[in-house]
Amino acid sequence: MPTGIVGEFLELKTETDADVLAMQCGDFYEFFADDAELVADELDLTVSQKSSHGSSYPMAGVPLTELTPYLRALVERGYRVAVADQYETDDGGHAREIVRVVTPGTLLETSDDDARYLATIVAGGDDDGRTGDETMSGEGTQPIGVAFADVTTGRFLVTELDGWEDLRAELYRFDPAEVVPGPTLRNNDAFLETVREDLTGTLSVFDAEAFAPGRAAHAVRDQFGASIADSVGLDSQPATRAAGAALAYVDETGAGVLASMTRLTGYAAADHVELDATTQRNLELTETMRGETTGSLLEAIDHTVTAAGGRLLREWLTRPKRDREALERRLDAVDALAGATLERDRITTILEDAYDLERLAARTTSGSAGARALVSIRDTLGLLPELVDAVEETSLSTTPVADVLARPDYDGAQALREALADALADDPPKTKTEGGLLCRGYDPELDELIERHEAAREWIDTLAEREKQAHGLTHVTVDRNKTDGYYIQVGKSVADEVPAHYREIKTLKNSKRFVTDELAEHEREVLRVEEARAELEYELFEALRERVAESAALVQDVGRALARLDALTSLATHAASEDWTRPTLTDSRELAVTAGRHPVVEQTTDFVPNDLRLDTDRGFLIVTGPNMSGKSTYMRQAALIQLLAQAGSFVPAREAHIGLVDGIYTRVGALDELAQGRSTFMVEMQELSNILHSATADSLVILDEVGRGTATYDGIAIAWAATEYLHNEVRARTLFATHYHELTTLSDHLPRVANVHVAVDERDGDVTFLRTVRDGPTDRSYGVHVADLAGVPAPVVDRADHVLDRLREEKAIEARGGTADGETTQAVFDLSTGSFATGADDTRTGNGESTAETTDSETRASDDSTADSDDSTADSDVVDPAAQAVLEELTDLDLKQTPPVELISLVDAWQDRVTESTETTHEG
Ligand code: ADP
Repeated sequence: MPTGIVGEFLELKTETDADVLAMQCGDFYEFFADDAELVADELDLTVSQKSSHGSSYPMAGVPLTELTPYLRALVERGYRVAVADQYETDDGGHAREIVRVVTPGTLLETSDDDARYLATIVAGGDDDGRTGDETMSGEGTQPIGVAFADVTTGRFLVTELDGWEDLRAELYRFDPAEVVPGPTLRNNDAFLETVREDLTGTLSVFDAEAFAPGRAAHAVRDQFGASIADSVGLDSQPATRAAGAALAYVDETGAGVLASMTRLTGYAAADHVELDATTQRNLELTETMRGETTGSLLEAIDHTVTAAGGRLLREWLTRPKRDREALERRLDAVDALAGATLERDRITTILEDAYDLERLAARTTSGSAGARALVSIRDTLGLLPELVDAVEETSLSTTPVADVLARPDYDGAQALREALADALADDPPKTKTEGGLLCRGYDPELDELIERHEAAREWIDTLAEREKQAHGLTHVTVDRNKTDGYYIQVGKSVADEVPAHYREIKTLKNSKRFVTDELAEHEREVLRVEEARAELEYELFEALRERVAESAALVQDVGRALARLDALTSLATHAASEDWTRPTLTDSRELAVTAGRHPVVEQTTDFVPNDLRLDTDRGFLIVTGPNMSGKSTYMRQAALIQLLAQAGSFVPAREAHIGLVDGIYTRVGALDELAQGRSTFMVEMQELSNILHSATADSLVILDEVGRGTATYDGIAIAWAATEYLHNEVRARTLFATHYHELTTLSDHLPRVANVHVAVDERDGDVTFLRTVRDGPTDRSYGVHVADLAGVPAPVVDRADHVLDRLREEKAIEARGGTADGETTQAVFDLSTGSFATGADDTRTGNGESTAETTDSETRASDDSTADSDDSTADSDVVDPAAQAVLEELTDLDLKQTPPVELISLVDAWQDRVTESTETTHEG
């Protein structure tokens, strides 16, 4: 172990969990050894070598005053940084101790406007002796407590979740900068894997005791004066433990920011529309699948002019609501603002001058706010009366817009503003210690010091002129610097003519510097008064800041109101400029949109509007059409219109009747998973499984191609079964785009299934995309059509068509489904004729809600099936082995890479094999 300064550094390093230690050494913060290498790499610092008792160690340093930006850069890159300060010991020596640890989730001074959450997570089984695997077994029964704290704004949310998927969805929504799992969870491999996969944040470890129920409950009560149950009605031990641990963590690491946590917000997952992580990603709410903000829904509709407004709009989009009343209020406000163009402009203009009050409040509580921050608070509080005027004097006065501004304590805010106005100088300097922070008339003692200071400076300022007059000197100036203090500087040409009482202190190239007793005395007065003034002023300033810190909750309230107004105005502006319409929210299970558009695509494309109707009689749409015709766009547009409505926004349509949903689930595309190297089919099935488990009759489900990742018949089988299940059991409103033409015939049998297709115009082999969605299925299978589009020669495509027809011969699939009037029916679909053969099975009646009791054997096709053979109707016998083998080869074949001649001979060979096999079957 090295001794000396490096030894001390390494010793201190053992006391902390931090990744990096910055240790004060005089006027610098130094990093040694590995830490020096790390910061040099990350921050482009120069590494030098420090020798200590025969060994040499890398060393890098930054000046004391410049630590903050380096610290921020390190922490924003995910490192936890400990800071050790140097202090003088009683015997006049130096010692150092760690004064704070800055972590990604507790960093106050961030470089962007986004929220920055710390997440603490407690699984219900923690601490009671169960293993981590049991607690995260994925069945979703274990309650999980989660707290999200944003120290930069004081937002503090807590909830209890119902299992693994919900946790993933919440983590995706909040995108925390730092995650601190409870004691059991942090050894849980499944948990760690998910966190690593989905999150960009840092994973930190914290004292197990902080998560202990009693201690955590105490921390919550200490901070908010009541338990979570009492303050937000959330009676949950895991949630309490998560909240208590978050407070303890912020207290320990967040250098005084704990006080910014002025309020606790509890919520239940059921308050919001369920959006699993995959769906949030698929719908490109805040960033595209490629991770870019451009092209996201948020970016497309964001007209906010304040940072806080932008944060809130993002929150609304990622956490849509289910409470119809709250949504109607938001819509009322948007409606009113959309119709009041001039007032809206006025509000926007006023808001443009607003600073980020939520952030500023946190800086006052942590003591890092300077005079300029307080000026920003003063000025922004001053916007409140202007905004109230802009609303009260107009048509908006009777709308919920007025309520938004009525929420914060108006008089309290104005009193605080006046207190700040009375105290602060108009344009104070950036530094806190050089004076000029406060204005005249605020404090008599300060005023006197200011007067004395100015008088003394006045004497000095006019000295040069007086000396010129008195002694007939030219080229005289009076100035001040650090080493010489005040001096009289005389040009060399006249330097010999100075009076005798001038004492020379320095000779320069072209001039000489002198002092006089009189100047020295005035200098002492200036310095004395200057110091007294700065000291008193800083003292007064701190008291003022303390006063603002005590009103942090009020400042946050005003900030929140301005943010809300900004977000509402933004929605209204977009609605007005893009001709969006107010959705009619209903409690029925419908989604009826007339002339709907895709909110993002419409901005860059000459968009063709389309209608959509989903309701209790028609709850499942099968969407067909060739590749690139617009299926995905149509379905995403449906999901986004639903989501916008539940964010309280107008929607891109001429008219929309929207039944509220409890969740939106999507399964779209597989490009990103492929890029991540995960098995596409596996991912696809996991997502499908999650949807089938989670969706309810009140959900909206969007499926874009299911079963693509496997051989054709497997794929059809899965898509078929999923359709039946969603239709019969889940009964969710569903849009299902598929290239399996076979599925379109399901509408003949399943009562609530309907077909729509995206029309194309095909003339002389040329395809024109019309982008129009029409009722009914496409008139051909586009599986082969894709090959056509890809440039595969016509004879091959024709043969492939033919082969497919032959493959389908004699293959029939039964369809299961409940009829609208409650009868359970079954039918057999004959792939060769493309139609169903059997109607209702009138020997059975179901309850209409579910066919769960219908067992496999009971739903076998009845005797009057037109299927050629009995076993062809059984699930297990859908495909004969030869045909299956051929199909697998067909699916695996890379059409673009195979020469046409080879293709033609392959197709011939396949056909022979299939024909042979069919004949054998018939003979048998
Ligand atoms: P598919 O899912 O059928 O392959 P997409 O939905 O990806 O097709 O759409 C293909 C292209 O067509 C996209 O670039 C999209 O911008 C455009 N598009 C889709 N629908 C419309 C529409 N209604 N009006 C104009 N362009 C559209």
